[in-house]
Formats: sequence, structure tokens, C-alpha cells
Amino acid sequence: SLRNANEPEFMQAVHEVAETVIPFIKENKKYQNKRLLERMTEAERIIMFRVTWLDDNGKIQMNRGFRIQMNSAIGPYKGGLRFHPTVNLSVLKFLAFEQTFKNSLTTLPMGGGKGGSDFDPKGKSDNEVMRFCQSFMTELQRHIGADTDVPAGDIGVGGREIGFMYGQYKRLRNEFTGVLTGKGREYGGSLMRPEATGYGNVYFAQNMLKTKGDSFEDKTVVISGSGNVAQYAAEKVIEFGGKVVTLSDSSGYILDNDGIDQEKLEFVMELKNEKRGRIKEYLDKYTNAEYFEGKTPWSVACDVALPCATQNELEESDAKTLVKNGCMLVGEGANMPCTPEAVTVFQDAKILFSPGKASNAGGVATSGLEMSQNSMRYSWTAEEVDKKLHEIMNNIHDQCVKYGSEEGGYVDYVKGANIAGFVKVADAMLAQGAV
Ligand code: NDP
Repeated sequence: SLRNANEPEFMQAVHEVAETVIPFIKENKKYQNKRLLERMTEAERIIMFRVTWLDDNGKIQMNRGFRIQMNSAIGPYKGGLRFHPTVNLSVLKFLAFEQTFKNSLTTLPMGGGKGGSDFDPKGKSDNEVMRFCQSFMTELQRHIGADTDVPAGDIGVGGREIGFMYGQYKRLRNEFTGVLTGKGREYGGSLMRPEATGYGNVYFAQNMLKTKGDSFEDKTVVISGSGNVAQYAAEKVIEFGGKVVTLSDSSGYILDNDGIDQEKLEFVMELKNEKRGRIKEYLDKYTNAEYFEGKTPWSVACDVALPCATQNELEESDAKTLVKNGCMLVGEGANMPCTPEAVTVFQDAKILFSPGKASNAGGVATSGLEMSQNSMRYSWTAEEVDKKLHEIMNNIHDQCVKYGSEEGGYVDYVKGANIAGFVKVADAMLAQGAV
């Protein structure tokens, strides 16, 4: 629509959903003439605010903060906060829109939301990050709450940032509640939350492989990114017997043909999470590896590709190269990492392809489990959480198969995820009337 014409990422995400959901609505009278999909594209509320903070030199810095409260038909708004210089209204609206469908797929009662800031944590001191987080939360706190809107992490927002924001929320509101997820273990965080998105992505891919009577055993796997999602996707692939050969960041990728094993992965985790270094420093320790500056890893021959960095990081030409090299499965760990043209290439080639809203839903699902544990003032063991996560990923896979199966046995996971996600939210909106 003209109203959103200057928001390309948002338009891209809506277009992809509309393509599969509009034909479904045309076949189902119940969903007609209620402007359901149209209402889902209009946020219930958008908050934009100034975030002013003092840097280490005592100079005033200013950023823009956002929270998109997209849809609360099935539960409180829920979705991450992203701190990255590319953050703008279009990017956050696309993420909040996707989140509504994703959260619906998890089977848990969570509505859709997303937020963040164009603040760049790179190169900032811990104190600067803390002052930014405190200033950001000073405004955000009046719009969120454990039963209203429960933010979490995303790109640039990990345990450190969640901690600083939680501390400020608590100070201002004088209440200890589960208002944020992704918290530290000591103050209400769930076991397995850091692992959940990456593990969940691999559980989902395992289900897809199973439909072909196959598994991760001895598969060569290319992964992009080296942040939260990429690290734990790699860990689970290794555990399942696959060979991870790449990781990347926004500067380039590393190729290790011997395979990145658990020990090497631990080096990466420390490099990225503690030292906040660059992926090319992998070569300082593992000298057999190669580094490709300014490149993405999609030209590396593989059986499985897991894009786990950012939106639109895998384009049509990359998709063609992957298919040509015999790739049989692409599982999105990031949100919308494949361009629409790339997705078409995968689907035309009839290889297994899962959209992020299905295959990366394990993160928010485990956030939902964190909310439940906070409400009960209780915590489950890692085994209990992992078991629930695994069941949820199996369930999402079943829903995709239910709504996405085509003649000849091919499963269109995009169609399946979109329709399954739509149905639950649409039914709730129908029940709640003109809201
Ligand atoms: P992190 O900040 O932990 O890591 C992001 C990784 O992607 C880093 O390696 C980063 O490299 C790279 N990256 C970021 N922006 C770009 C860019 N513009 N171009 C190339 N590389 C880039 O984030 P997460 O791992 O949490 O998130 C990754 C993706 O997964 C995002 O799309 C996010 O929305 C999605 N996601 C995350 C969930 C979670 O639970 N964390 C849940 C569901 C989805 P660099 O260090 O150079 O910036």
C-alpha cells in the first residue's frame, strides 16, 4: 500500500506473506470481508523516542529508540530489541510483522512486537553501553510490562545489554517481574535460552532431512554469522555429526576445511562474546583456515546452508551457486536472510527450504518458557527446557507440513508457516471483534 511505500523491508515481508495467505483466504469464507490480513499489517501502536546519553568523554550522544507493538490478539506483545546502525522503522516493522506469525506458530500465547535503536555497540565501552541502555529503558519502561509487552535480545542485544536494561526497569518501576527475557540465570533467566534459536534451527532442519530419510551425519554445513544464533547452530550440527566449515561476520568469512569442532567453536565463542573480536582472528589460532574479506560464504560447496547473520544476506546469484554445488537444504536462522528471488531459486529446484519464522522460532519459544517460569517463580532444568523446545520445533514442522504439502510430496514451508501462523491470529481477531 502507498502508506508504507518508503519501507522496503516491511513491504518485502508483507508481500511474501500475502502471496500465500491471500489464496488461502479466497478459499475460506470465514476469513473474508473482515480485513484481517490488512489489520495485521497495521501496528496497534508504534513508539519512537529520543535516547540521549553521555559518552566516556562527557559528550552528548543521541540515538533514536523504537518499539513496534504489532499485534496482541493472542498474548502480550513479544519480540526482541535490535541495536544496530541499520535499524529504522522499515526494518523493525518487518521484524514485528514476522514476529506475529512466528509467535503464533510456537503454540504459546504471545503477540508480536519488535524494537531497538540505531545505536552501534561496536567500539563502545561497557560504561557507554550501560548509559545507553539506562537511557533507552528510562523511556521504554512506561510502555512495557510482564503482561503488556515483553522485549528480548536480537542483533547487538545479548546478556550484557538485557542486564543493564533490566536493572534500570527495576529501579524505575520498583518491581521484579519477567518484563524482559534472555535474562541472566541469577535473576530469572531460563536455562537454554542462549542456545535456543540455534539449536531450534537445527532441530527443525533435522525434521526436514527426516522427510527424505536423511540426517546431519557427515553433512558439510555452511553457516553465516558468528553471533548467538550461528554459534549454537554450529554446536548442534557438530553434536549431530555434521561438519561445519564456515562462520562469518560483517567483515568476511572463514573457511576451515578440517571442520570447526567443539574446541574451535569454544575459541570462537570467547572471541566473539568475551573479547568482542572479529572472526578473522580465528586464523591467529587455526592457521590452516582461510579468510575471505568482504565476502559471504555461499560459494563454498555444501550439503546444508544455515544463514544466521542478517536480512537479505543471501541473494539470487548465491542461491544459484548453492543449488549448482548440490546443496539440499537451506534453513533460515536469521530473519529473512534470503531475498525473495533466492527463495524462488530454492523452491524451483525443489530443495528443502525453511523460512526463519518457522525455523528460528525456538528462541522466542524459549523466551515464552522463561515467561512461564517467571510467573511461577520457578525454574526448569536444562533437560526439561530442551525437551519442550524440541517438541515445539517438531510441532512447528508438523504445522508447516499440514498447510504446505503439495502434490508430489513437496513441502512448501513458506506457505505452510504463513498459513498456520495466520489461522491462529485470525481466529483470535475474529473472536475479539473490530479491534
Ligand atoms: P548477534 O548480534 O549475536 O550476531 C549477529 C551476527 O550477524 C554477527 O556475526 C554479525 O557480525 C552478523 N551481522 C550483523 N549484521 C550484519 C550485516 N549487516 N551484514 C553481515 N553480517 C551481519 O545476533 P543474533 O545471532 O542474535 O541474530 C542473528 C539473526 O538471527 C538476526 O536476523 C536475528 O533477528 C535472528 N534471530 C535471533 C534470535 C535470537 O534469539 N537471538 C531469535 C530469532 C531470530 P558483526 O559482528 O560484524 O556485526
